[in-house]
Amino acid sequence: MNKTIKSTLQRIIMFSLLVIMSLCQPVVYGATEVPEIDSSDLYSISINSNGSLIFAFDPEMKNGILRLFEGKKLLADIEILDKSCLVEDVPSNVAINYVINFDLNKTIETISGILVIENTEKNVSNLKYSTISEMSGLSDEEIMMLSSNLYESESNDSFSSADRTYDDDNMNGCIDSGSDIDYYKIKFDVPGKVNFWLGSIPSNCDYDLKIYDSNYSLKWMSENAGNSDELISLKLVEADVYYYMKVYSYSGYDDVDQYLLRAKLYYGNMGWGYMYTDSDNRYISSGYGLPSRPDHYGIDIVSSNSSDPIDGDAINNVYSGKVAYVGIDSPSAGNYAVVETDSIDPETGKKLRVRYLHMKYLPSVSKDDSISKGTLVGYTGNTGLSSGPHLHFDVNNESKISYLDIEDTINPELFFPTISFSGDTSL
Ligand SMILES: [Zn+2]
Repeated sequence: MNKTIKSTLQRIIMFSLLVIMSLCQPVVYGATEVPEIDSSDLYSISINSNGSLIFAFDPEMKNGILRLFEGKKLLADIEILDKSCLVEDVPSNVAINYVINFDLNKTIETISGILVIENTEKNVSNLKYSTISEMSGLSDEEIMMLSSNLYESESNDSFSSADRTYDDDNMNGCIDSGSDIDYYKIKFDVPGKVNFWLGSIPSNCDYDLKIYDSNYSLKWMSENAGNSDELISLKLVEADVYYYMKVYSYSGYDDVDQYLLRAKLYYGNMGWGYMYTDSDNRYISSGYGLPSRPDHYGIDIVSSNSSDPIDGDAINNVYSGKVAYVGIDSPSAGNYAVVETDSIDPETGKKLRVRYLHMKYLPSVSKDDSISKGTLVGYTGNTGLSSGPHLHFDVNNESKISYLDIEDTINPELFFPTISFSGDTSL
């Protein structure tokens, strides 16, 4: 083989390899070029709200340190774990939970704080940044919690050919033509409340979102006009059954620019500990907000074993926090304790409060005590308006102590996904 032919052949092989390699490259969401950043890159963000900031990073991001400044004042210095980190108690005036996502297509415009991201690895690529978006409940916003990226696999035009996606993963897809419909299916390990979100909709397109249950019955939909995101907020889902998400075009399509679809479960995986160790104490004599007693905003836990009553059983605190109030011999609640946990409600952005009522003795904790998950708060009893030893337990997301009504509370069963409650359950 002469040298020219050999060289030409080599070139053809190299070129073919390059083509094959480029075809095998994962699609980078919304980006044609991936910038490289050096350590200590500065990003400016606006912090005009009180609450928690969740910083989410691209899966390519390795270890790093996130430093958040207000002016020159260091607010947080946090190790980035699992591609995200949480900055709690960011000071300001309004209580809203903010989520920041990094998106190559968008720029940050408002400046009042500085975010420093120091990477322990040089030239971490794929860092995405975007404008700040509010979390659920207040406006038309996006829920941005970056985790794994998944990509649509056509044809997924029917329920039976739906692509599988997972809790909190990003599904990137395209509406390829005016008649293209994309189906995805997802199931959750535990019951909870789910945000279904469709965002990054290509410009000049109006895509909409419908959610179906495992029988293909329509459950919820979001059909915002124009190019707006779609958000179906905090819907109660069952565990271990498929839900189907349908993405379709109301007008326009783009076979290049991808949309982003994500479903994220809240409440079910918040790391709470159960109040008891005894498995008998999972029987609910009066459930949360059931038709028979719709104004009952908590659960009443008793023992189903008459030879092992719950009377006097230790009550362990469910999540770290601070004792907000201790009530003694109240006519209705008896001896009780209210704990403001460090667990943030995804809907209100406030710290969740829990109440333990009808304790046998004075509570074992005092107001303003900082307590841990598992701290003994008292013993189960029959004080106050109670017809037998039981624990009334409720979870409140509006930070109210009195004047509770069911709209301020969340079904406590959601917080204990590994506990199999029996009796008057409501999930
Ligand atoms: Zn009760």
